[in-house]
Amino acid sequence: MYVKSLTLKGFKSFASATHMRLEPGITCIVGPNGSGKSNVVDALAWVMGEQGAKSLRGGKMEDVIFAGTAGRAPLGRAEVALTIDNTDGALPIDYTEVTISRTMFRNGGSEYAINGTPCRLLDVQELLSDSGIGREMHVIVGQGQLDTVLRATPEERRGFIEEAAGVLKHRKRKERALRKLETMEANLTRVQDLTGEIR
Ligand code: ATP
Repeated sequence: MYVKSLTLKGFKSFASATHMRLEPGITCIVGPNGSGKSNVVDALAWVMGEQGAKSLRGGKMEDVIFAGTAGRAPLGRAEVALTIDNTDGALPIDYTEVTISRTMFRNGGSEYAINGTPCRLLDVQELLSDSGIGREMHVIVGQGQLDTVLRATPEERRGFIEEAAGVLKHRKRKERALRKLETMEANLTRVQDLTGEIR
């Protein structure tokens, strides 16, 4: 499994559609300060479902949409598509190539798709986390983040290891199951109340 390509359109400084084809192995992005290198990494995190504007170095989520320059008007939407080579079947899906895309509109609406089929954020997160990648899996180490790891308490360090080991997805599934159980219990109490009233 490797990232095969990344396409950005209207995302941060990438107003025009920009397609990057990547090869297996190490890819380096070089360029002058402020040319958009970190924006490419932000796009990767964003398309994988990042929800925190601060993690994307913005104040609000809308800041990922091209805000305009002196010579170019702002755009109404940001789009990123990430294509992953899945010939080794690392992603639990029956395709040898998987394209995950995310579109966000200035009015706040966000859409996700897997191989062109609209889906939920949860579907993207589950697809990626089953293979050990995803926005919370520490596959993206931002500038200054190494410091955080080095200064982490033993509990925090355990958290990093658990996430790398793939425990996070199970913790999330457990949280969801517990929330459903709570709702079920509330419904049961309601049914018991109603049955009591009818008797
Ligand atoms: P450095 O080497 O200094 O870390 P960099 O190459 O990583 O720089 P980025 O931080 O990726 O650069 O890009 C910063 C540029 O992106 C700035 O010029 C900023 O104005 C532009 N930018 C960020 N968000 C938007 C947006 N929503 N619309 C237009 N331009 C944006």
